[in-house]
Amino acid sequence: MGRYIIFLCPRCGMPRYARKGQKTAKCFYCGLQIRISSARIRVLARAEDSRTAREIVEKYKARKISHGKFL
Ligand SMILES: [Zn+2]
Repeated sequence: MGRYIIFLCPRCGMPRYARKGQKTAKCFYCGLQIRISSARIRVLARAEDSRTAREIVEKYKARKISHGKFL
C-alpha cells in the first residue's frame, strides 16, 4: 500500500518524496539524481496521496533541523 514513498537523500540526508514506480528523483537540496530502488534508499514512510507525503516530508525536515544531521 502507499502510492508515494518518503525517503532520505543518500548524499545530504534531506527527506523528500516520490511517486511509487518513479525511477529517479532529484534532491532539491544537493541536486543529486537519486535512483529510487528499495535496496539503496532508506524509506521512511509511505503515503496514499501527495499532500500526505508532503506533510510527512515537512515533519521529517523539521525534526532534522532541530536535531541536526541524523545520517
Ligand atoms: Zn541531497
